Amino acid sequence: MATAEPKAVFDVESVRRQFPALAQEVYGKPFVYLDSAASAQKPNAVIEAEMQCYREYYSNVHRGVHYMSQKATEAYEEARDKVSSFIGSGCKREVIFVRGTTEGINLIASTFGRQRVGAGDEVLITAMEHHSNIVPWQMLCEQQGAKLVVAPMNQRGELIFEEYERRLTERTKIVAFVHVSNALGTINPAAEMIAAAQERGIPTVVDGAQAAPHLGIDVAALGCDFYTLSGHKMFGPTGIGALYGKLEHLIAMPPYQGGGEMILTVSFDKTEYAEPPAKFEAGTPNIAGAIGFGAAVDFLRGLDLEAVAAYEADLLAYGTAALQAVPGLELIGTAQHKAAVLSFLIDGVHAHDVGTILDHEGIAVRAGHHCAQPVMDFYGVAATARASLALYNTRQDIDRLIAGIGQIREVFG
Ligand code: PMP
Repeated sequence: MATAEPKAVFDVESVRRQFPALAQEVYGKPFVYLDSAASAQKPNAVIEAEMQCYREYYSNVHRGVHYMSQKATEAYEEARDKVSSFIGSGCKREVIFVRGTTEGINLIASTFGRQRVGAGDEVLITAMEHHSNIVPWQMLCEQQGAKLVVAPMNQRGELIFEEYERRLTERTKIVAFVHVSNALGTINPAAEMIAAAQERGIPTVVDGAQAAPHLGIDVAALGCDFYTLSGHKMFGPTGIGALYGKLEHLIAMPPYQGGGEMILTVSFDKTEYAEPPAKFEAGTPNIAGAIGFGAAVDFLRGLDLEAVAAYEADLLAYGTAALQAVPGLELIGTAQHKAAVLSFLIDGVHAHDVGTILDHEGIAVRAGHHCAQPVMDFYGVAATARASLALYNTRQDIDRLIAGIGQIREVFG
């Protein structure tokens, strides 16, 4: 079961101490959190940043002439700067605060999508998408009389690149794909996929919900047209995320929602819209959430992300080997390039029973279709159990998981 120790040094214990939730007991047992792909735990710095905003300088942003409003506005805009530089965007105006990846993709589909996609056109996605990168495109295609086309994957859960390329045609108006699959852990060859689309003049949308907590993101190097993030998966608050879009698109796109904040002037005859990003942030935003998101970005940037990646790769290899050694256990998703996700089936035991028994051992895993029903259909299963890893997990967590699976065997024989 043992694999080589990680090369780069990463002090997981000092990281764990920053996450108060991890120090708890569940049913009298030390808590093992293996559900970070659903949502990550929060470090003190994020909790404190959000509380500090409410305690010390809370006010609405962009509107008030008063001191508190200016202070809140500064902090909110500073958070935008942080996100922008974290993902390598050259310009903070390219970062729109949204609720998360789901809202980001819906925003693109209902603005850029409606502009670009017409009757007979196609939107290309992959076979391993989360529902939030399927349904908005399906809705768009239904509205516009267009077709949703799916690039297939192989049994390991890897995109079949030639098949992807074959589906990039003159009818393809948008390509949308997941950077890292939440159900399988597959890391897609994003740069190559974007380059292939770009060669044909097709804009690309990348669902980065699972990538951002594990990989360094550089939207400029990737060359994508849009990239989406969920703050809560990056150790930040819920209800906040970011949509990156190339400025030229954001300028040309119609607004998403109408209301306050997104306008220059309003009369009953006509409204002039604000410039991006304000154009896409109608209404009072999630002010404290954005500030907490900025703190999460600071937390990540305070770490040696290469060392984190090496540490996580080691943990994944350790977990993969440990699970593969369990008789009657099948791993779902065995891509060569993979991050943080261990989806599995245990012969004769329903995934929900796996989740419930592990829960009684103090181990939190996810059981279900992971909002990726087409992935489950591909493997001919209704659900899997999924242990997902983050930078605060340890080999001991994996050992506890394996011991918990041993309990399942005792119950089910
Ligand atoms: N895409 C992927 C790959 C995801 O894992 C998730 C969250 N499970 C989403 C999109 C949707 O993100 P959110 O719920 O934060 O909007």
